Amino acid sequence: MTLLQTHNLNKHFGGLHVTADVNFSLERGKIHCLIGPNGAGKSTFFRLLLGEYPPSSGTIVFDEKDITRLKPFQRINQGISVKFQVPGIFGALSTRQNLQIALQHRLDSRDLDLEVERLLEFLQLTEAADQQAGNLSHGMKQWLEIGMAISLKPKLLLLDEPTAGMSPDETFRTGEIVKQLNAQGMTVLAVEHDMAFVRQVADRVSVLHFGRIFAEGTIDEIVADERVAAIYLGQSHE
Ligand code: ADP
Ligand code: MG
Repeated sequence: MTLLQTHNLNKHFGGLHVTADVNFSLERGKIHCLIGPNGAGKSTFFRLLLGEYPPSSGTIVFDEKDITRLKPFQRINQGISVKFQVPGIFGALSTRQNLQIALQHRLDSRDLDLEVERLLEFLQLTEAADQQAGNLSHGMKQWLEIGMAISLKPKLLLLDEPTAGMSPDETFRTGEIVKQLNAQGMTVLAVEHDMAFVRQVADRVSVLHFGRIFAEGTIDEIVADERVAAIYLGQSHE
């Protein structure tokens, strides 16, 4: 069953063809990773899915509805949520207060308190609940952001480089969080450079190159693909 599908999606910036005839399909209940060299068009593709950019042509179908013309907030209401790389937390407020703000639109006060404590525990942030969010470690900030992104119980969670700047331990812990969310029924699409993370979580991997889907398969198929290895030559990451 397909949760998200793009049909011949294109985005031009002037003469630059940044998303090129992308026919992308995301299966419900899966963790799908999107990889590709810098400048391949990964973030642009995310922004098209979120409605932050209108496509030049093509359509986006989510949960059997054509969302191509919907505004970002309407897509959020349909069940799409995103965690970008740039932190969106309120640094002067505590960890707990950040989660309360994210949840307050969905829950009344009694359920809110229970859900905040449940999320703190799930993210292993209970001991940091009363700390100012701005003082949390880099990894903890990212987990708090994931907590805020899942507060609306989205059907689809988009993650743009969730492990950037993390230690191997933090990266592994992030992978476990993503796998637990997926086990609870959330479909996940993650842009990621860290191949250990991709191997840890991905059911399927798509490679974007010059705005096109260049290869698709399991992590083993992608790693074994010499054409994929060739496009990464000269880049600093794997
Ligand atoms: P990635 O996330 O894979 O590194 P991006 O989607 O950020 O790639 O960028 C792909 C290409 O599109 C780059 O060449 C970038 O300079 C260009 N690009 C991205 N956004 C814009 C924009 N708003 N205007 C013009 N060019 C853009
Ligand atoms: Mg990017």
